Amino acid sequence: MNRILVTGGAGFVGSFLCDALISRGASVVCLDNFHTGCHENIAHLLGHPRFRLVSGDVERPLDWLGQIDCIYHLACPASPRHYQADPVRTMRTCVLGAINALDLARRHGARILLASTSEIYGNPLCHPQREDYLGNVNCFGPRACYDEGKRAAETLFHDYHRMYGVDIRVARIFNTYGPRMAEDDGRVVSNFIVQALRGQPITIYGDGLQTRCFCFATDLAEGLVRLMMHPGELPQPVNLGNPAEFTMRELAQKIIRIVGRDAIIDFHDLPQDDPTRRRPDITLAQETLGWQPQVALEDGLTRTAAYFSAALAAQELHLPI
Ligand code: NAD
Ligand code: UDP
Repeated sequence: MNRILVTGGAGFVGSFLCDALISRGASVVCLDNFHTGCHENIAHLLGHPRFRLVSGDVERPLDWLGQIDCIYHLACPASPRHYQADPVRTMRTCVLGAINALDLARRHGARILLASTSEIYGNPLCHPQREDYLGNVNCFGPRACYDEGKRAAETLFHDYHRMYGVDIRVARIFNTYGPRMAEDDGRVVSNFIVQALRGQPITIYGDGLQTRCFCFATDLAEGLVRLMMHPGELPQPVNLGNPAEFTMRELAQKIIRIVGRDAIIDFHDLPQDDPTRRRPDITLAQETLGWQPQVALEDGLTRTAAYFSAALAAQELHLPI
């Protein structure tokens, strides 16, 4: 498996995955249309002899790409602000993107991994979430374009596996954070850190008692590589996330402490269909892949805050990040 395609490789998660693959000696083709990704995320890889950046859209056929041995299919906006901005486009990216990536895998006999999501479980009635939980998704709410788009992508992956024997992997990724998140993408970790650094009020949606579990980006990249490299068939979905569960109030307090500035908390309305509780059961990943997250939340938040602090300082001086 030496020529690896990463769709969405210039995004937040994709860029950490490209780093992990390059450091393992792979040749990486990073395909992106820069809808939500940016050049800065992969700027450090651009001169590398085993790294190639190609501009392309997964909504169109990918048969113009040369021989590919292995595909990580990540291309899709992930933050609610981005995926809700044009929900029809999000659904098209999920469905057409999956078909085009799967057609490419089928043509080359390549193994292919889908970056699916914990949103598959919707607002879960079962806690923590195991892979066999079928979910509780509102199919016409504002989050549906992403939740149902990813569910449709999972369906396509399994149908290509059953019909054409494509070797598939499906990672159900839970909330992931770290450096290189877009400062304005609206996700909770980047919002809270940027607000705290700027001395702005911390915006908690709802009562702040809803929970999430946060996985550091390098831990996730390691999990994705292990899932892809696992020998033999592994078509069933595998949860990848950090099981340590926190309320948004707890997250805000940690970030305020790490940034070290006084901050007031501003409560806003809870967005429609915002999941109340979410926590991965990662038994399958632990037992099958020998994987579990290594970076504790405080440590990861400290590294992420340092990144945003430097990025904001560079912006003030008009320097490249
Ligand atoms: P991101 O928005 O930073 O990255 C997505 C990348 O895909 C961007 O570089 C974007 O430009 C690219 N892209 C979008 N549409 C495209 C298209 N049509 N053609 C080509 N490229 C396109 O998001 P992320 O957080 O890095 O998420 C990456 C993947 O992981 C997504 O599939 C997402 O659904 C999944 N995921 C992420 C999280 C998380 O917490 N970050 C959680 C669950 C699942
Ligand atoms: N959230 C919040 N303040 C913010 C952004 C998000 O309280 O400024 C909440 C949001 O309502 C949700 C949680 O944080 O309950 C995680 O939101 P995010 O958008 O990061 O991820 P997702 O909802 O997709 O899990």
